[in-house]
Amino acid sequence: MNFMYRIAQFFQGRYGIDKFCYFLLILYCLLCMVNIFTRSVIVTIIALLIAAFAVYRTLSRNIVQRQKEARVFDKIFNHIKYFFTSIRTRIMQSKTYCFHTCPHCKARLRLPRKKGKHTVSCPRCKQDFKMRVWF
Ligand SMILES: [Zn+2]
Repeated sequence: MNFMYRIAQFFQGRYGIDKFCYFLLILYCLLCMVNIFTRSVIVTIIALLIAAFAVYRTLSRNIVQRQKEARVFDKIFNHIKYFFTSIRTRIMQSKTYCFHTCPHCKARLRLPRKKGKHTVSCPRCKQDFKMRVWF
């Protein structure tokens, strides 16, 4: 009981584990798996630095700075997630829709797939442009 109390006292006021920490640990595991085949000293050092940073973040008392790092990580992670989600959506809808970029404002447009030449009016910049759907 005394030992558990001491552990609880040690972790009080520390940042703990978040999504960025899980990402760092997964990255560490991947680098360790890569290192099984490559046996590189540089990869080992990088993996250990990543693991040390993950442990440092978990035990850190500077919660404001750790939350800033987590916010930056979330922002980057959401951009990457949106990129792959949009590619998946485009592939899944490619039979019924075709996707074009407006030449004036660079907006991504989802248009019904109809073979032939069409005049398209962009909903964002209200300008017309011609396009052709081949198949
Ligand atoms: Zn436009």
